Amino acid sequence: MMLITCPTTRARVLVSLDAVRSVTNHPDAIAVRVSCPVCGEVHVHRTGRRLEEARRSAALEIAVRRAQTPTSA
Ligand SMILES: [Zn+2]
Repeated sequence: MMLITCPTTRARVLVSLDAVRSVTNHPDAIAVRVSCPVCGEVHVHRTGRRLEEARRSAALEIAVRRAQTPTSA
């Protein structure tokens, strides 16, 4: 199951993996084509897997940098 936002109805809907039509790998994200249970159209939904990973590693990098910086308090 995954949560997508229908661009037609603006509704947030849970779709099952059965609704996935195709998956395309992009450098920054994974595009998943799903047939929408709300409006019946096929929407391209970009999963955040890689985006999330990039964000997480960026956040981690900042945290590490902060930890390494001696606080002058
Ligand atoms: Zn829809």
